Amino acid sequence: MTTDLGVEPTPLALLLLGRQADPESERGTACPGELPAASDPDLVERARAAKAALGDKLFVLGHHYQRDEVIQFADVTGDSFKLAREAAARPGAEYVVFCGVHFMAESADILTGPHQQVVLPDLAAGCSMADMASTEQVAEAWDVFTDLGLDGDTIPVSYMNSSAAIKAFTGRNGGTICTSSNAEVALRWALDRGRRVLFLPDQHLGRNTAVRSLGLSLDDCVVYDPRKPSGGLSADQLRDATMVLWKGHCSVHGRFSLECVHDVRRRLPDVQVLVHPECRHEVVSAADLVGSTEFIIRTIEAAPAGSTWAIGTELNLVSRLAKAHADKTIVFLDKTVCFCSTMNRIDLPHLVWALESLVDGRVVNRIEVDPQTAADARTALDQMLALPAL
Ligand code: SF4
Repeated sequence: MTTDLGVEPTPLALLLLGRQADPESERGTACPGELPAASDPDLVERARAAKAALGDKLFVLGHHYQRDEVIQFADVTGDSFKLAREAAARPGAEYVVFCGVHFMAESADILTGPHQQVVLPDLAAGCSMADMASTEQVAEAWDVFTDLGLDGDTIPVSYMNSSAAIKAFTGRNGGTICTSSNAEVALRWALDRGRRVLFLPDQHLGRNTAVRSLGLSLDDCVVYDPRKPSGGLSADQLRDATMVLWKGHCSVHGRFSLECVHDVRRRLPDVQVLVHPECRHEVVSAADLVGSTEFIIRTIEAAPAGSTWAIGTELNLVSRLAKAHADKTIVFLDKTVCFCSTMNRIDLPHLVWALESLVDGRVVNRIEVDPQTAADARTALDQMLALPAL
């Protein structure tokens, strides 16, 4: 069977996301008959025209992991927290189009004013890590802590990459949000106030920060598996732990293995390995440098010409860095493709569709967090903003 574009369906659908090669694998958002064809040669011009027509009413945010075809239309690029703050700093923008994933658009909605409307061009752009901690699972887990009398001295710390509902849970229970840039200071703050931390939803960021930055041991950390009764942990294990790590991970950064590090060191003897803290602990331990997306960008910008880097983060960003720094050798840490499939759902056809709809006076794919959830989540986000600088 071939598609409209004459392309054979492929088992490697991720490579062709947005190209309509395998419609069954790509739910996308419902915009029947309206989504422009990916082959439309006027897409770039249409996006430009729609942006110009909307003028100052529009503000487009682009996460670093977005495709080039989309990022070219971003008014500002950054990580999830920087983008949410940028949105909040633009009260004049009636429409905030978020080229990123769902939890980021939720955070932007929480931090922007009621007169501002946040749009996610494809509603299927979720985050597998955020989905690994559902509201029900976290409520059940907290009941376990409460039944054991541990809720009073357990402080929830939730990564920015979580749903608004999990951020709200964190705010209601005296915790804070953190990013990969300030996880250390967030953990120090939490452990000044409680005996232990419940870290949601990325076990790797929690473990890496606790061990590398706070000097805790791996034995101080336990993993709470929400699919098992009591997280698969005994009362003593929960009571004795300093870090209770939710069993979640990023499906992109989780792909990098120790073998990837060994392999690139064999191939490129002078290489420096630079990875994101969402990578597994053994990968982070074997790397030369570890840090957030913004840290990775700054490190490459400051690196001397002629230096060689293997970067373990999302491929769109690594490719852009390699293009922008042709005087340095920059390779992707894994040998295989490692795009974030949900980030990649935001493509030019969806962006054009969202922008042209706004020009026509229709707000499509609005992301709206209910007021109570937004207020509780805001408490946790404000707590993060109040954390001392590192
Ligand atoms: S890169 Fe990982 S954490 Fe980021 S949106 Fe994709 S799945 Fe989620």
